Amino acid sequence: MSDGGLRPETLAAHALGRVDGATGAIIPPIHPSSTFERDADLGYSRGRCYSRADNPTYDAAADTVTALESGSGTLLFASGMAAATAAFLALEPGDHVVVPRVMYWALRAWLLGFATRWGLAVEVVDTTDLDAVRAALKPGRTRLVWLESPANPLWSVSDIAAIAELAHGAGARLTVDSTIATPVLTRPLSLGADLVMHSATKYLNGHSDVVAGTLTAAREDEYWTRVKAVQTQNGGILGPFEAWLLQRGLRTLFARVRWQSDSALALAEKLSAHPKVVEVLYPGLPGFPGHDLAKRQMRGGFGGMLSIRVAGGEAAAIATAARVTVWKRATSLGGVESLIEHRASIEGPTSPVPPDLLRLSVGLEAAADLHADLAQALEDA
Ligand code: PLP
Repeated sequence: MSDGGLRPETLAAHALGRVDGATGAIIPPIHPSSTFERDADLGYSRGRCYSRADNPTYDAAADTVTALESGSGTLLFASGMAAATAAFLALEPGDHVVVPRVMYWALRAWLLGFATRWGLAVEVVDTTDLDAVRAALKPGRTRLVWLESPANPLWSVSDIAAIAELAHGAGARLTVDSTIATPVLTRPLSLGADLVMHSATKYLNGHSDVVAGTLTAAREDEYWTRVKAVQTQNGGILGPFEAWLLQRGLRTLFARVRWQSDSALALAEKLSAHPKVVEVLYPGLPGFPGHDLAKRQMRGGFGGMLSIRVAGGEAAAIATAARVTVWKRATSLGGVESLIEHRASIEGPTSPVPPDLLRLSVGLEAAADLHADLAQALEDA
């Protein structure tokens, strides 16, 4: 608990509950202004100067994320990719970083492409294996360990507390992409991580109408100052309207994620029994390799994302996705509408994703409708 003992559900529902001082409005105003008045003595006594550095519309969303993650500060970015890449660009060329084998594919592509050319030594390891992480760390040279848990789109679970200890022992920071878990289910900073990142495009906003990213720091140290400088100088900032939509989305975060987790678990259990489903990948299933760890690390659910592998291979998977009517065929995840996607055709040949895999983002529809639609499509494919 924080903020006067209020529980996270209350903090989120109110987006911290600040009433606008000028008007009494209980919903914060949008400030489209790109610039702010300077004092006669050239100072900025009201604290803002120019919106590439800061804008008052950011406060509600940024401070709510800080409170939910138990952090000390949050930056809002133009996308999850802008947030994630800022965490790496705040390092120095020559630094060594450890990143997971299973992770959001576009970030892996950026790390192995741009970041490597820029001079980072990027080491890809199976972060579900603590010995592999231990072996990959280079004390004094590894500056950042990146985790994603559960990791898109195989949903493998990595041990945040144990890897935080390993990373710190080697003098490195730990950053967790917690897009899938959300602060409803996991708070990485409380488990020892130094930074938590979200593609706020997903659950934090929750309505498929904003592209945004966040970084939240456990402490505002010299590295965090460099992250802020990357954001201000590169200019990957969020627009005020998007920041305002994000604070609105955050108000329903707990209700959405809990509903979506319950529906995803029900679907995972039912689909496990479907004769056309070879495997269901979901941390909530007792047979899933990371299940015991997920039970310890995630509170109150296992998230709204699962994947299925379809009997008959790639062609059958694509044919199944072609036949659904309630699920929408689209990329992205974490919105109120359920999405289905053939991942291998998105991620390309270097991806660890099997060609028969369909990724499912469970929305707020009745789970029975989602199951009936998908079960029928699997049968007809
Ligand atoms: N991290 C995860 C786990 C994601 O799923 C995504 C996008 O799908 C990203 C990061 C990148 O976020 P964005 O699309 O907002 O740039």
